[in-house]
Amino acid sequence: MRAIALLTSGGDSPGMNPAVRSITRAALNQGIKVFGINRGYSGLIIGDITELHSSDVTNIVQRGGTILKSDRCEAFKDPVVRNQAAEILREHGIDGLIVIGGDGSLSGAHLLTQETGIPVIGLPGTIDNDVYGTDDTIGFDTAVNTALEAIDKIRDTAISHERIFLVEVMGRNSGHIASQVGIACGAEMIVVPEYEFNLESLCFSLATQRARGEGSSGIIIVAEGPRPGLTSRLATQLEEHGEKPGVCILGHIQRGGRPTGHDRVLASCLGAAAVNYMLAGFSDMMIGMVNNEIVATNLQDIIEKKKVLNPQLVELAQLLHK
Ligand code: ADP
Repeated sequence: MRAIALLTSGGDSPGMNPAVRSITRAALNQGIKVFGINRGYSGLIIGDITELHSSDVTNIVQRGGTILKSDRCEAFKDPVVRNQAAEILREHGIDGLIVIGGDGSLSGAHLLTQETGIPVIGLPGTIDNDVYGTDDTIGFDTAVNTALEAIDKIRDTAISHERIFLVEVMGRNSGHIASQVGIACGAEMIVVPEYEFNLESLCFSLATQRARGEGSSGIIIVAEGPRPGLTSRLATQLEEHGEKPGVCILGHIQRGGRPTGHDRVLASCLGAAAVNYMLAGFSDMMIGMVNNEIVATNLQDIIEKKKVLNPQLVELAQLLHK
């Protein structure tokens, strides 16, 4: 193997830059040429490819986003287009591709190698942590901490005004961000797509607190989930119970910002490991971290298996709520 390429795809996540730096330097140190593909699969299919030197990845370890830019590319779902992409890689003398992205991007990588034989290795880059085969995805820890910083501030207002706040966090169809954030901010309730929730009992306990003459305030963390509008529906229900809930949708603030130390270390370890696996002849795998060990999992499993939300976290949140 003489040259590899890398790209970042799908939603950006804090830690993609340290991953790009680690892959580039790990490969260069082993005498392998490195090419950066701009704008994910959109750049690949038009040959927007530049050689990366060590100096290109200087001073990016602390930066959010991705210097390679990211994109969503509908055209890459077409096998004809994927074949053309493989041709472009061959024309550039590229022997293997490392893809950093979420499960969608990893699905594309799997199909590319299956159909064309181009070796691919994937890295889990998404804030949502909804990727099987790794305890944490690159960007998850930063997103949780970004959300917490905002929610601690909202808590001050909730206490001062004795109000309930519904705070919606990201996570696509999973409650990984919501459950971690909920525990860490001491939420009165966590609403995740994976579990039933009981708004009635929360309203009852708030009313009881008030009847005792106690101030009642609280934070309810709501995962964005598959059904848009859940947070505002919950707000309406709370109003029907006499509450005056505040609503805050944190949105894209959670995707940006300087990666935490945890995400920088994770991205650096996984990036270097991805290069080693690729040079050792492995393909069609994602490199993750499980129990502090580097683990390679077939992309087929990554696509088919769902990462289960730890039920103990949701139970713990309920246990810790007075
Ligand atoms: P993420 O990688 O964060 O899950 P998306 O699901 O939007 O984000 O996927 C990012 C990109 O990966 C898509 O725009 C597309 O280019 C590619 N992709 C996603 N799913 C597939 C698929 N089934 N086949 C081929 N390419 C795909």
